[in-house]
Amino acid sequence: MTSQNIVEEVISHTNIIEIVSQLIPLEPAESGWYRGACPFHKWQGKKGLFYVSEVKQVYRCYRCKRCGNVITFLRDYRGMTEEHAIVQLQERLK
Ligand SMILES: [Zn+2]
Repeated sequence: MTSQNIVEEVISHTNIIEIVSQLIPLEPAESGWYRGACPFHKWQGKKGLFYVSEVKQVYRCYRCKRCGNVITFLRDYRGMTEEHAIVQLQERLK
């Protein structure tokens, strides 16, 4: 299995909402999106800038412009390598 396949398998078997909501509080927004306080830039007390999509399995912050998938979220949130994040997500699937 190539690493690209592993990445795709981990992403397709992991719900980003489940992972992100364990780390930051999320509330449901419209069209399958959830929103919360962005963990990647200094929070000003305004809600609704950080969005996570259950449908697309991506996150996006409209202020600091960070976006990505569950792997890059864990990489940046935890300060770990992508490889480590993938291994951690794989462990969850076992
Ligand atoms: Zn942000």
